[in-house]
Amino acid sequence: MADKTFIVKVRRQQRADEAVRWEEYELRYRPHLNIIQCLRDIAERPVTRDGKESTPVTFDANCLEEVCGACAMLINGYPRQACSALVDSLEKPIRLEPLTKFPLVRDLQVDRGKMFQDLKRTKCWIPIDGTYDLGEGPRMAPGLQEAGYPLSRCISCGNCLEICPKVNEGTQFVGAAIISQVRLFNLHPTGAMHAGERLEALMGPGGIEDCDNAQNCVKVCPKNIPLTESIAAVNGQVILHAIKSWFVGQ
Ligand code: SF4
Repeated sequence: MADKTFIVKVRRQQRADEAVRWEEYELRYRPHLNIIQCLRDIAERPVTRDGKESTPVTFDANCLEEVCGACAMLINGYPRQACSALVDSLEKPIRLEPLTKFPLVRDLQVDRGKMFQDLKRTKCWIPIDGTYDLGEGPRMAPGLQEAGYPLSRCISCGNCLEICPKVNEGTQFVGAAIISQVRLFNLHPTGAMHAGERLEALMGPGGIEDCDNAQNCVKVCPKNIPLTESIAAVNGQVILHAIKSWFVGQ
């Protein structure tokens, strides 16, 4: 009996300024296949459905267990991780495209550097350099640990930026992931010492005011991070910080 097969369509582009071409591949079905394995099957035999020799598809991947965020792409038009997208649960033919809100590198690979620059701009870290001989840091109450844990699960995949209508070429909006990380670092007892700097970074262009409350972000987050709660919480912090700064400046 012939092997069962299915079709994968891949949007291919050598560079952002090159014409787009779609390629169709007919792959051998096996149970529990994920999209990464489909791309590996193509790499092993890059011959299209109509018999043309092609090249392996370029894509990013690393941990293969939805922890690194690298393999985010559009799968049937929806931003998600290729490692956890199973062929069995996808409508066929399967369409693969790169994320559109980040500069294209090649095929399905994009440059998500904007997110990391925005994490730097909003000081999403806890400075500990030079503190090693100061003794123990402040204790973190269990309630705070519980509040911080879901936020700490962000894998910087960029899905929430991809789905957000306010992340586009006309704005500098940082997006939900960065706002949620500001919330995480501001609730940490040591991180709170720099809360004001983080909030000020979100008060300027591309900051929290750019959020139009579309609420798409929370629907595509693979880690179920309560992003709309984070946006509301940080918005409150920004307003309070602005009022306090105004009084201090009087
Ligand atoms: Fe990805 Fe969720 Fe982090 Fe956004 S918040 S980057 S969707 S893990």
